[in-house]
Amino acid sequence: MELFQEIYEAALASGYDNCGIIAPEDISDSAALLKKRMEDVPSSIGFYEGVKANYEPVKERYPWAKSIVVLTAEHGKYRFPPELRKRYAKAFFLSPEEGHTEAYDHRKFENWMTAHGIRWEEGHIPLRYVGMKAGLGIIRKNNFFYTDKGSFVGLTGYIIDRECVLHQNISPRPCADACTLCQKACRSGSLCAPYTMEPMRCISFWTTFGKGNVPPFLEESMFEEWICGCDNCQDACPHNRRHNWDEGEPFSDLEEIASKLVPGKLLEQTDEFLRTEVIAKTDNHLMPEDTNVLRINAERAIRNGQNA
Ligand code: SF4
Ligand code: SF4
Repeated sequence: MELFQEIYEAALASGYDNCGIIAPEDISDSAALLKKRMEDVPSSIGFYEGVKANYEPVKERYPWAKSIVVLTAEHGKYRFPPELRKRYAKAFFLSPEEGHTEAYDHRKFENWMTAHGIRWEEGHIPLRYVGMKAGLGIIRKNNFFYTDKGSFVGLTGYIIDRECVLHQNISPRPCADACTLCQKACRSGSLCAPYTMEPMRCISFWTTFGKGNVPPFLEESMFEEWICGCDNCQDACPHNRRHNWDEGEPFSDLEEIASKLVPGKLLEQTDEFLRTEVIAKTDNHLMPEDTNVLRINAERAIRNGQNA
């Protein structure tokens, strides 16, 4: 079996849904794309400066790199409890916590690579762009990566020291020229134009890294009942709407704890509960010391729910 096939089989055996492999040179234009994005929305410069290094040429940062492996894991195969919808981002809560292997087992895949003499490192790379270059899907006007099953998909990327190529051919129908549903669904105006955004207006940012603050250029009502993240621009998209979140497999203990995570109940929980049952599920968007961020967001969600 050729190496690309072995990697593909190992990815599937580790719980991923698909796998592509490209050359580092295939994303050599990514720094230029980021530069254009910053020029198009100058207010985003401060935010993107923080991630700019991920867009620099892979070979400069990993001189031993021969290929980039990118893996997808569909979140849409799981149910997402109704109590959590419009409050918690699905991508956060449907990503496995460190040490949990219910969706995919990244340690298993990494151990497989090590056992097969492959040097690897989890790559600080523009994953959505890499996924698109590997033929695993497309990037839509709301900036999210979509496979043929929609945008609720996790991406993982590895730099490896072996030369091989695996292109998939997943090419969902592109966005209709006239469609602006995602922009209209973005209450804060963050999604200000197709294929771009103002990160500092994004509710997902302010409920997580922004520590629950409402900056002076946004209004509290724009946060609706979001407690951690925001899915509005994905939920509004016709390419996601056919998905029924009542169907599929259960994920972890979400259904058992969902009733404790509604805004009023969340305020009654201990710091320990918030750390283990909520923050640990946010895919590193909140830190263990952020228990009060959750409470700030829950209090605002209650006010907004009352005013809705
Ligand atoms: S996540 Fe929410 S706030 Fe951010 S761009 Fe999408 S709809 Fe707008
Ligand atoms: S809502 Fe319309 S424009 Fe936005 S990503 Fe979906 S199809 Fe594209």
